[in-house]
Amino acid sequence: MIQDLKPIVALAKRRGFIYQGSEIYGGFANTYSFGPYGIELKKNIKDLWWKTFVHARRDVVGLDGPILLHPKAWKASGHLDGFNDALIDCKSCKGRFRCDHLIEEATSLDADGMSLAEMEELIQKHSIACPKCGAKNFTNVRHFNLMFSTQMSKTTSSEGDIAYLRPETAQAIFLDFKNVTDTMRVKIPFGIAQIGKAFRNEITPGNFVFRVIEFEQMEIEYFVRENAWQQAFEDWLQAMHKWCDLIGLKPEHVHEKEHPLEKLSHYSKRTVDLVYDFPFGRSELYGLAYRTDFDLTQHAEHSGQRLEYIDQETREKFVPHVIEPTFGVERTLLALLCEAYEEETLENGEVRTVLHLHPRVAPVKVAVFPLMKKEPLGSKAQEVFNLLNSLWHCEYDESGAIGKRYRRQDELGTPYCITVDFDTLENDTVTLRDRDSMLQERVPISELVGILHKKLT
Ligand SMILES: [Zn+2]
Repeated sequence: MIQDLKPIVALAKRRGFIYQGSEIYGGFANTYSFGPYGIELKKNIKDLWWKTFVHARRDVVGLDGPILLHPKAWKASGHLDGFNDALIDCKSCKGRFRCDHLIEEATSLDADGMSLAEMEELIQKHSIACPKCGAKNFTNVRHFNLMFSTQMSKTTSSEGDIAYLRPETAQAIFLDFKNVTDTMRVKIPFGIAQIGKAFRNEITPGNFVFRVIEFEQMEIEYFVRENAWQQAFEDWLQAMHKWCDLIGLKPEHVHEKEHPLEKLSHYSKRTVDLVYDFPFGRSELYGLAYRTDFDLTQHAEHSGQRLEYIDQETREKFVPHVIEPTFGVERTLLALLCEAYEEETLENGEVRTVLHLHPRVAPVKVAVFPLMKKEPLGSKAQEVFNLLNSLWHCEYDESGAIGKRYRRQDELGTPYCITVDFDTLENDTVTLRDRDSMLQERVPISELVGILHKKLT
């Protein structure tokens, strides 16, 4: 597996997967654009996730909640008061740092959960210097909320006019719990799934798209009876491993990391991360949390609404507990690129770069080439392209040497290439080339759809 992110960043740019955000203005830190192939890869991940966790299950329904929620929701959820980073500024160079990182790097002490005063004391005691300029001239440590705030224009400014961009999609689901249970015939246990953007005002540099300030989450809030949470937790953990298999992440690169009890978020009683062997180290890919009945209870209290589940048979009323599997879209995409990337030395000594993406997620499934840009090869190839493109996302390429066209598709992770040549005009067969083995076989056009159907699914 690749040990360095640089070749992946370069390929992502070169082949139109990922560009730096606002690049013509010199870039905007920790933001990225997804180019023509990046968006296809992202879309395939999201569609497959929805198919797997919503359509294929009878116990999960979908939702698309707003990014802007009532500000009271963030008070209730604990984000307004507790979703902070402790930051410190260097007065000399104006650099800003996360205090826990500063302390961990200088002393190897774990500063997680320390108070502001304790952190300040440690900085004094160990005489920690600014990692940028070396000065020992810091401000006090302050809490900065990780939510992006924005001003509503309804009235002149007052506290009530601040709105927050959601830092997680989960809360939008809790706010519509009542709507869903009132309008859908859901029976406990059941889940509500959502894919959408979330925003976090973080200063930590990102390892490419691993940590970004604007990202997409795929989340499920799975509602259970309290006594059923452990089983549901185990079931979801297995479902998450199965998902990793489905998209082509090798099991030996995916590991479980249990959060120690004293480090759990304020709402959680158990959290397990699925961590992945990224080139920059083993890091969080997905999370599974038992959120208890914390969120529904909090929103019931702050909204004055009853947020209960009513068992239609027994008329029993109770606040359900919640198991939450969370999947980051960008992290999935990055893990897939890392898993798939290979610089392969061929028998003739040449090196080809190839993405061994699973056909389920590959941005382009099939590329169709006429051997030469010449009639009637062109119109015959166009015919084959039209036939296949109605079924899978295909690409047509007629420019340059055929070898170069293969290499380009290898870098995009396209599983199959089809070439229309002079024999095609004689006997209606084409060559079908496999990305991974690079083997070519001669296939009748009439059998193409059947053969590809087997290979691509
Ligand atoms: Zn400094």
